[in-house]
Amino acid sequence: MSTILTNTQTIQKQITQAAARAGRDPDEITLIAITKTWPADVVTAVYRAGIHHVGENRVEEFVPKQAEVTAEFGADSGLVWHFVGSLQSRKTDEVADYADAFHALDRLKIARRLSQRLVENGRVLPCFVQVNISGEDSKFGLAASNWEADKQQRQQLLNSVRQMAQLPRLDLMGLMTMAPWQVEEAIIRRVFRRTRALRDWLQAELPDLDLSQLSMGMTDDFLIAVEEGATHVRIGRALFGEREK
Ligand SMILES: *Cc1c(COP(=O)(O)O)cnc(C)c1O
Repeated sequence: MSTILTNTQTIQKQITQAAARAGRDPDEITLIAITKTWPADVVTAVYRAGIHHVGENRVEEFVPKQAEVTAEFGADSGLVWHFVGSLQSRKTDEVADYADAFHALDRLKIARRLSQRLVENGRVLPCFVQVNISGEDSKFGLAASNWEADKQQRQQLLNSVRQMAQLPRLDLMGLMTMAPWQVEEAIIRRVFRRTRALRDWLQAELPDLDLSQLSMGMTDDFLIAVEEGATHVRIGRALFGEREK
């Protein structure tokens, strides 16, 4: 518990400093504690440390954990639950029912299913469209590895985002991306910078939307992400240590 508090304070200070380096207001950056694999009392601890945004990546883990925490703090605790993992179509109902934001929207089929359920349950779901800028096969997201040069890829991205935006009760916030693992800083920085440039282009093409948010940056690269414009950083290990699974 005291480690979580200390780590939280360290990370928040680092975010503030990175924001200052980039001439940004640190208040526009949301720290999301990624509590996947950790039990509900870790969520309780981050909440007490003052972080009110938590993130999970597996439906089977997220739903019972949220229920446990809600039983302790009540439904109006102010805790915001982000679902950050890639989603299979048969799990869309749970995310539509229980998540407060979704960071991995990468297929029209998923968007349609979420929207359908949201119409039924009366909720609105803020969503980030995940883009695969690095081009790695292991990464999820709409193909965007060559969007600057490849007109067809760019057009496809635009069409997908436009169609997603037209679906009822999905509230598109901006883009999400993941940088490659363990590569040099310049490569990571370029992925974030290109994601932001893609967002700027989409925003110009779709002026009726508000795509101002960028979900990018994890334990190993969140400071670079903040310097390059991230509004949401998703941090697990720097808060809680290494995961066992
Ligand atoms: C696990 C995970 C994170 C957090 O990763 P850390 O390296 O522990 O900070 C962030 N985003 C997503 C999508 C994840 O699955």
